[in-house]
Amino acid sequence: MAEVTRKFLRVNLSTGKIETESIPRQVIEDFIGARGFGVNYLYQELSPGIEPLSEHNKMLFLCGPLTGTQAQSVSRWMVCTRSPLTGAFAKSTCGADFGAWLRFAGYDFILIEGKAEKPAYIHLTADSCQIHDASEIWGKTIDKTQNWLTKRHGSNTRSACIGPAAEKLVRFGHIASSRRTAGRCGTGTVMGSKNLKAIAINAQRNVNLYDPEAFRQAVKEQLAVYKSSKGCEHHQEVGTTSTADTTNRMGIFPVKNFRYGSMIDYEKILSGEYRKLRIGEHGCYSCSARCGKIHKVTSGPYAGIWSHGPEYETIWAFSGSIDNTNIEATVAADRLCDDFGLDTITTGNTIGFAFELYEKGILTKSDTDGLELTYGNHEAMIALIKKIASREGIGDILAEGTKGAAAKIGKGAEYYAMNVKGLEMPGYEPRGAKSQGYSYATSNIGGGHNYGYASQEIFGTPIPRQVDRFAEEENADITIYNQNNGAVQDIGINCVFTSGWGWFPHIYGKMLAAATGIGQCADPRYLFKIGERIVNLERAFNVREGFSRKDDYLPERLRSEPLDTRGMPGDGQMIREHDEFLDRYYQLRGWTKDGIPTPEKLNELGLGHAIKR
Ligand code: SF4
Repeated sequence: MAEVTRKFLRVNLSTGKIETESIPRQVIEDFIGARGFGVNYLYQELSPGIEPLSEHNKMLFLCGPLTGTQAQSVSRWMVCTRSPLTGAFAKSTCGADFGAWLRFAGYDFILIEGKAEKPAYIHLTADSCQIHDASEIWGKTIDKTQNWLTKRHGSNTRSACIGPAAEKLVRFGHIASSRRTAGRCGTGTVMGSKNLKAIAINAQRNVNLYDPEAFRQAVKEQLAVYKSSKGCEHHQEVGTTSTADTTNRMGIFPVKNFRYGSMIDYEKILSGEYRKLRIGEHGCYSCSARCGKIHKVTSGPYAGIWSHGPEYETIWAFSGSIDNTNIEATVAADRLCDDFGLDTITTGNTIGFAFELYEKGILTKSDTDGLELTYGNHEAMIALIKKIASREGIGDILAEGTKGAAAKIGKGAEYYAMNVKGLEMPGYEPRGAKSQGYSYATSNIGGGHNYGYASQEIFGTPIPRQVDRFAEEENADITIYNQNNGAVQDIGINCVFTSGWGWFPHIYGKMLAAATGIGQCADPRYLFKIGERIVNLERAFNVREGFSRKDDYLPERLRSEPLDTRGMPGDGQMIREHDEFLDRYYQLRGWTKDGIPTPEKLNELGLGHAIKR
């Protein structure tokens, strides 16, 4: 057995000071890695009330104890910070290979503080870390930035970088590694506010494990079930493009800013149509599922445009939100967001919101720079993406996201802003998948689908039990299970798509034990306790920023308008028992009626330092 050194790099962009620090043993045992470390250090180091886009905010780029190993689908990385969209705790995960290279360089995470005087990027190797001038690539698209870094540092370079949108402080800028993105919560915008264009890493493939032989055995076990699973086969075949088939037929594909649960003519946007445009596939480090599909438009006004997607959420964002059945336009929209560095979920949701404001007369042609924002108008959608990315005209207002834009527009626009805590909701209709919806409501990051993904409701997964997707307070335990489960996946870091493929959490736990030397990880109960600890500390972070029960509600539309599924199941469903749900959820969580973790709960989880005094 070999003791594994756990350490991180602290980079202060204001002073240029760079230091390596070791991670205390107690922190490692309490949090294991990644998201746990992220919330622990943010809670310890961020003063309450700081402005997310000020130099006082901090951000962490984290990999997990399994990242960069031979295990399948666990080489993700993530960013934690305070979100410029919500003001709450933010976490956003990403695939591709930046995480593996961070691990090869020997670090668990990089903690960024301060603000560079002028555009800068960080170059890291196993032996050195330097801050360089990024003036030449400031303003460049993601693609061009990555190519420039590779040209300068060689083909073994992997990077995390932002595009022009985040530089302009569009509040939902993403961070890209290759063609994957950490999309949610505006983490790229925090990078932009620090004048940090990229982090580039050169490192040789090398990962230290506590017990390499036990790890090898666990990987063997994983491969045996993983590769023969239907889920893996399905992802190899169609990726996530087929989820639109499922959600339309279930009546949970939000259409026209969450008014309908399925699209008319939805056959036009299904996976078979995307299959006709497919020209290749791509994947993440050490993942044989390779679920990313590359599509190219061959005819019409978007001919010649290709993108490394769209994935399900992007398909939804630029089809459902806009009521657009032109999938070539969706490919074009995806490509623009990839180039400019925009989160596709928030971008599509925000454009769908603007279209509804136009329909209601709250926005007129004189507000929209002459654009006709009528549903189905994909040319206007494309024009708005460009305007948002450059903060031009109406784009300057929409660049604030739905919450910020509604506050600027007024005239009742707030009712149509479909977000939770300021983070735009994704492509699963809460009224037809209520545990999923209540997970958005109570999530510490706002309306994110992977914070507590309800696979029981969407794919019928019977773990920990089967559920009725229209039930409300009765499923509070499921929402809690899914959120704690999500936190457990984010310590490895596992890809959420694969957790139903027969190896999670038992083999995952064995891998974590063999990688870290913390034998208790092999016990799923220990892992779930860590998941609960993470969610509670995130909650304590938010409480310190003034969040409470008042912020745990779904948008009013979902509580006052019955869902119209256009003949699909779930017609007429509404969120009816929101308060009853919250009461039950808080009770099961061990929180007060106002949604605040009690001292008893925090002490039980070893988080006594987070008790509000
Ligand atoms: S399943 Fe897809 S997103 Fe997940 S790790 Fe594999 S290639 Fe990446």
